[in-house]
Amino acid sequence: MIPAAFDYLAPTTVEEALGALAQHGDDAKILAGGQSLLPVLRMRLNAPEMVIDLGRIDSLRGVRDDGDAIVIGAMTQHADVAKDPLVAEHAALLPKVIEHLADAQIRHRGTFGGALAHADPAGDLGAPVLALGGQFVIAGSGGTRTVEASDFFVDLFETAIGDDEILTDVRIPKHTGWGAHYEKFVRVAHQWAIVAVAAAVRTDGGTIAEARIGLTNMGSTPVRATAVESALAGASPTADGVRAAAEQAAEGTNPPSDLNGTADYRKHLARVLTGRAVVAAAGG
Ligand SMILES: Cc1cc2nc3c(=O)[nH]c(=O)nc-3n(C[C@H](O)[C@H](O)[C@H](O)COP(=O)(O)OP(=O)(O)OC[C@H]3O[C@@H](n4cnc5c(N)ncnc54)[C@H](O)[C@@H]3O)c2cc1C
Repeated sequence: MIPAAFDYLAPTTVEEALGALAQHGDDAKILAGGQSLLPVLRMRLNAPEMVIDLGRIDSLRGVRDDGDAIVIGAMTQHADVAKDPLVAEHAALLPKVIEHLADAQIRHRGTFGGALAHADPAGDLGAPVLALGGQFVIAGSGGTRTVEASDFFVDLFETAIGDDEILTDVRIPKHTGWGAHYEKFVRVAHQWAIVAVAAAVRTDGGTIAEARIGLTNMGSTPVRATAVESALAGASPTADGVRAAAEQAAEGTNPPSDLNGTADYRKHLARVLTGRAVVAAAGG
């Protein structure tokens, strides 16, 4: 289908984009890579009068070092995040996740910020950003504010970004030297996750010193498996060593039941995939 007619604006600064948002209010929609928005417009599930394309705002693109964190511009394409040397060094979990995100064409058009702002519970980026303690930098007419990942994801397709705000950057605290793995369960290639587990693990002297675990599609928002993280401290990074901790992976989750699996099946998957993800992340 062809989208309903809309006006189009391509500002070159965040201030200009915010001004347009303020002027058009509910009638405006932000366009990033368009990989989720354009299907929505084509199906006429949304018909904004004004589309504000962020593609010409250079300051929103790229990865930079900011001391104890790396900062990823919201308009950085998935493929560019995946091959960035700072990301590889300090947030090795992200390239492992992006490898499994959609297909090569979508990874070259879709953006890091767009995927997170879209907040699809089956989207792959929420769980790793939550697990790594990411922070979201959001610009509005009154200036910028920073929101912790734990407060960013509000509900299904709903985030802390206000109607008159723009996500500009995502700060990821450095996890230099941590092992990482993303275990994504799908039936066919390039599918959205039925369940997936993002794991970052720091080992010390042959045991797990610290672990950070995020779950994809185990609720209406990404879930941090804190019970597993606590139970993994001091465990041996082997299938037997992590089994008891991984058994707690479904605690506090509320997964959906749909054609791909029941909630109980997803809970079972979360436990199995967590064990596999942690062992792989620890290099076992
Ligand atoms: C066939 C297909 C398969 C896919 N498979 C997967 C998959 O397996 N895993 C996965 O994680 N994703 C998948 N995706 C989605 C992909 O990751 C998209 O990149 C992502 O959902 C949206 O990113 P985008 O840059 O295209 O944003 P857009 O589609 O342009 O925007 C998405 C939404 O976010 C808002 N938005 C975008 N940027 C900002 C911003 N900076 N500030 C405020 N609001 C903003 C827009 O207004 C819109 O509502 C798939 C997409 C397709 C089409």
